[in-house]
Amino acid sequence: MGNLAGKVAVVTGGGSGIGAASARRLALEGARVVVADIDGESAARVAAELPGEAEPVAADVSTEEGVESYIRAAVDRFGRIDLHHLNAGVLGTMAPLPDVDPADFDHVIAVNLRGPFLGLRAAFRRYREQDSGGAVVLTASISSLRGADDQLPYQTSKHGVLGLVHGAAMYGAPRGIRVNAVAPGLIPTAIFAGRTDTLGRRGGTIPMRRLGTADEIAGVVAFLLGDDSSYVTGEVVSADGGAFIVNTVVRSG
Ligand code: ADP
Repeated sequence: MGNLAGKVAVVTGGGSGIGAASARRLALEGARVVVADIDGESAARVAAELPGEAEPVAADVSTEEGVESYIRAAVDRFGRIDLHHLNAGVLGTMAPLPDVDPADFDHVIAVNLRGPFLGLRAAFRRYREQDSGGAVVLTASISSLRGADDQLPYQTSKHGVLGLVHGAAMYGAPRGIRVNAVAPGLIPTAIFAGRTDTLGRRGGTIPMRRLGTADEIAGVVAFLLGDDSSYVTGEVVSADGGAFIVNTVVRSG
């Protein structure tokens, strides 16, 4: 029996990258998993390959209907929800500040910040209805903690995720609900499609001298959703090969 046997977990953005690795890891630990993604085909593919019971859902996390649809799917299929990994995200266009398109800014904020806000709200409502505790992990980023000169919308959304973590953790603590975040460094998933320059440029400064893997993030998610972290809430756990501790210098040009 795994650490999460008997639990029902929802993973958003579960169709690819970190979310898919998380769905696999939670299933390996014994959870029944709802794989929600705006790309319904990817969600179905991932769900079909999980070792345990799984339910795919096509859902846009930036809308109330989308969030409602994955909650309903979980409750209809498994009767309850215990764990959430609110992970769906987009990188947006990388551009220097004067060239940021306001529409791009709005889209990134809608998916990366409104999405987890709606997800937390729905999770807390669900736990209230079940009269249960629960655990939620959000996918933050090293961009929640550091600056960069070409990813303002993404960085702003990921800084906002920390506000969600802190506020929700405060509200949840006396109610048996833990809320934490994992802050991945550079993980070469589809989110970097066509941006190998970014991986190369930033990857060179990582103290561990390598990029991370989605499975290495999933391990932290499983820890934060499981009972081994029963006294951990409001925490942001970096998994970045030491990238955060680098004393950065601004280079000219
Ligand atoms: P990473 O795993 O590094 O975050 P990916 O691009 O591999 O990067 O995964 C992000 C996932 O989030 C994708 O499967 C993508 O389809 C999903 N996603 C993006 N926007 C939304 C959205 N609005 N609603 C639900 N899922 C989304």
